[in-house]
Amino acid sequence: MKSILETLKHYYGYESFRPGQEQLIEAILRGDDVLGVMPTGGGKSICYQIPAICMEGVTIVVSPLISLMKDQVDALATMGIKAAYINSQLSFYEQESILYSAVHGELDLMYVSPERLENETFISYVQQMNVNLVAVDEAHCVSQWGHDFRPSYQNIPRLMDVLNNRPPFAGFTATATTPVRADMITQLRLEQPYQYISSFDRPNLYFSVVKPKKKADELLRILDNKESSIIYCNTRKNVDTVYDTLVKKGYPVTMYHAGISPQERTQNQDDFLYDRKPIMVATNAFGMGIDKSNVRRVIHYNMPLDMESYYQEAGRAGRDGAPSEAILFYSGQDIITNTFLIEQGNNPHAKSNLNTMITYCKTGSCLRKTILNYFDETPEWTECKHCSNCDGEMVKTDITVECQKILSCIYRMNQAYGTGLIVDVLRGKSTSRIKQQGFDALSTYGLMKEYTDGDIKDMISIMISENYLHLGGDQYPILQFTAKTNDLLQAKVRLSMTKSLKEEPTTTKKSVE
Ligand code: ADP
Repeated sequence: MKSILETLKHYYGYESFRPGQEQLIEAILRGDDVLGVMPTGGGKSICYQIPAICMEGVTIVVSPLISLMKDQVDALATMGIKAAYINSQLSFYEQESILYSAVHGELDLMYVSPERLENETFISYVQQMNVNLVAVDEAHCVSQWGHDFRPSYQNIPRLMDVLNNRPPFAGFTATATTPVRADMITQLRLEQPYQYISSFDRPNLYFSVVKPKKKADELLRILDNKESSIIYCNTRKNVDTVYDTLVKKGYPVTMYHAGISPQERTQNQDDFLYDRKPIMVATNAFGMGIDKSNVRRVIHYNMPLDMESYYQEAGRAGRDGAPSEAILFYSGQDIITNTFLIEQGNNPHAKSNLNTMITYCKTGSCLRKTILNYFDETPEWTECKHCSNCDGEMVKTDITVECQKILSCIYRMNQAYGTGLIVDVLRGKSTSRIKQQGFDALSTYGLMKEYTDGDIKDMISIMISENYLHLGGDQYPILQFTAKTNDLLQAKVRLSMTKSLKEEPTTTKKSVE
């Protein structure tokens, strides 16, 4: 039998293994379950493909994306590795023929979607196969604590019960914190798995957080016509708006979201991949499985909902190792919108996930360190000297008194209104709504005239993230007190806000979101 290094050279033409690959492959070949956590582009596929080639029988690969399966199988075929995928786009006869080959030992790898495991015909075929390994791609999808839970992933351990000989099970993911990692092991029922967790540090990425006066202007300032960039927006509408702006300015730009036709999506994706249009504006629907190495910049136009998604998306910059940037734009409004979004949903972890993002946006500490700490890594340095916080000077302002003013305004308005109106009253605007309802007679009317809308929204968002305010209401978000609010009103606790000296002043006008 060829050694695994010879197999690597023979089929893939690579001279050596990347960190972790050899250990994971050897563990699988010993018959152990494994969990491999490596960044995107780290080379996870080889960790299950080489065992699949070396062992008798077939490896079942559970993969969430149909498009990804096809690419992988095509790539394997050109290397002379026998692989196939089964999905609902294939005809009944095509599916039967693949299952038949697998039963007869003619396939090394068979890619399936997790939903397929619910299909009884499929299961009865699998029972006749000599399955040597079950590999789970994007394994974090099995955990409700992760950012991408897919209920169908919970079918995977069922394979352990239906197979006569329990083969090793291997989970792979690019993103996992300690609790999600532990949960993956439980949910996939891995038995004392060998774990390889590589560092999440990406030294070639420069991280920055910006709070632009006008996001659109800032975007135009930093974009480069010739360099490949991805701009992530939180909604399809924002994708359309940003895309239109860039088209008007003559940028070579394309776009992607779930609202455009599949043909157009493929076309746009290819335009981007082949650098015909090196700038992509997209929702988070874009990116999984995209292997474009020369992306120089990933810009988040809105604040994402959690750090795992953020880091995975930002990590699409600089996969070739060349200096690249991960830039996050945020506004007080982003925080308020996101808080409302998660309060509508039912993910119990969403709130603390969002708070991590808010902290990332507002922290004065090294951004790289903040990220690595989140992934339970403790770097030896305290400052990376290669992020916008390490470069900029930060000032910390006490905002306790300002917060008390805002709270008393909310109280006087019976905790029945949303951020917009509270801000208008505090700034003493004379809108018809304010006059009609007599809010201009309140003692808090005009109490914060000298502040900008953005400043006040920021303070509200800090109070929300620290649980001094709660966003209630069914139709639209209403600011309400929490059990902690009194502590702040009585100044038993103090709140402060960190701002970079380089940060642009907030605007009084509503900026383009
Ligand atoms: P992941 O699934 O972790 O995102 P892939 O398995 O797609 O990463 O690998 C990313 C790229 O790195 C692929 O082009 C792959 O061929 C390449 N690669 C993987 N292992 C090695 C290696 N040992 N040496 C050189 N290139 C490698």
